Amino acid sequence: MKISEPREGTSPPPESTVTRAVNWEDFREHLATATRDGRRRWLYPKQPAGRWYRWRTWMSWVLIGVMFAGPFIRIQGNPLLMFNLIERRFSILGRIFWPQDAILFAVAMLTFFAGIMIFTTAFGRLWCGWTCPQTIMMEMVFRKLEYWIEGDSQAQRALDAAPWSARKLRIKLSKHVLFLTLSFLIGNTLLVYLIGTDQLFSIVTDDPRNHLVGLGFMVAFTLLFYAIFARFREQACTFICPYGRFQSALLDENTMVVAYDHRRGEGRTPWRRGQSPEMRRAEGHGDCVNCNQCVAVCPTGIDIRNGVQMECVNCTACMDACDGVMDRIGRPRGLVRYASLNGIQRGEPLRFTSRMKLYAGVLTALISLFVFLVLTRTDVETTFLRAPGSLFQAAAEGRISNLYTVKVINKTRGELPIEFRVENRPGRVVVLGAPQFLASGNRLAETSVLVEMDPKDLLGATTPLHIGIYAGGRRIHTVKTAFVGPRS
Ligand code: SF4
Ligand code: SF4
Repeated sequence: MKISEPREGTSPPPESTVTRAVNWEDFREHLATATRDGRRRWLYPKQPAGRWYRWRTWMSWVLIGVMFAGPFIRIQGNPLLMFNLIERRFSILGRIFWPQDAILFAVAMLTFFAGIMIFTTAFGRLWCGWTCPQTIMMEMVFRKLEYWIEGDSQAQRALDAAPWSARKLRIKLSKHVLFLTLSFLIGNTLLVYLIGTDQLFSIVTDDPRNHLVGLGFMVAFTLLFYAIFARFREQACTFICPYGRFQSALLDENTMVVAYDHRRGEGRTPWRRGQSPEMRRAEGHGDCVNCNQCVAVCPTGIDIRNGVQMECVNCTACMDACDGVMDRIGRPRGLVRYASLNGIQRGEPLRFTSRMKLYAGVLTALISLFVFLVLTRTDVETTFLRAPGSLFQAAAEGRISNLYTVKVINKTRGELPIEFRVENRPGRVVVLGAPQFLASGNRLAETSVLVEMDPKDLLGATTPLHIGIYAGGRRIHTVKTAFVGPRS
């Protein structure tokens, strides 16, 4: 069967509505976005219209707002979201996390992945269609701008096929300048997430020669996003994103996906003027009128009537397109809808399966552990280590002393006066170079201290010590170290 040849018993779809010709038999043998010899097949999806598209548009405005505003919104002085890899400081919902919170981070990651597993098992790729930044930026920002500048799919196709002219140059130039500007904004937003607003501000306002690395990243991110949204597009979901790949291991016949109701639709054939639904049924035809509108709007170029496919990002465009067709021919909406395979085959409602129960149990345990770790997380984290290579020294009044290096992470916003006390033996801690050790808010502070002890209080060559860390007079926690003295 040739690519454009329709399946037996059906008529070819009208040319004007078809993004590409579809062969219903060989869709598993090659990608919808590639020709048989492996070259890219550029897609011209029609602009969707309908209730799902409207809801997704509203949702995308909210998420885009959060994405762009995230690093600028402050909660108690800290950014709502920040992943400062250079200073190794992370802010989530205004709480600052440090590399020392690695266990918390690991549990958060496990919780996230368990959440994805249970979510995907239950709701398929709802994330991809509604909340994934790639889909949102591509379909709700760049694609909409493209429709606005170049027109709908037919106009775009005609423009690309036309020879170069002043009009074509003007349209293409406006589009790509706009795309580059947007990519610059997105790239800078990513940079703010990575380095924080203050650093970005200094890159922008300071002498560029002092920020060559930062500027390099700015340019690289801009070009990267431009390449993704102007050229790479749906291939990011098909080739790069691992989520689509492992969904096959997570989906089952009870998972909610965007699905074509083949029981209702098959026996597809074009609708004849004046043909009533009863006439169609009497002639053995289903509700699918083979108009190919669901294919024409698909941003990944697939035909949802072939079943669940890896390329499907659950964007709901085909649901809207088909609902529009059903409205016009007087049939109920939902020939393409959110449903499970069992829902379509046997009319079963969406179920909470044993697999979901197992995942939910693991997820609940992980969330509980995460909450426990967050609640028991201390405001001050301290490392108290003997200075490398040092032994003991003689101190005043016949005492001996050991030198220690102390690092304190103050996870609170305010400055904290830190005190150290030897808890398990008589002894004292002297901060070097300052009468008091102050740890600035949300910063790592370092100092050196001497622990002084009377030789009679030592237990031998090495004496275990418990050092209490006090902030504002309140003991935060106790660290263990050792004191080295003369051999007795
Ligand atoms: S839009 Fe609906 S009626 Fe048209 S081809 Fe797709 S499934 Fe069939
Ligand atoms: S098949 Fe439908 S839901 Fe899936 S990507 Fe295409 S248009 Fe979106």
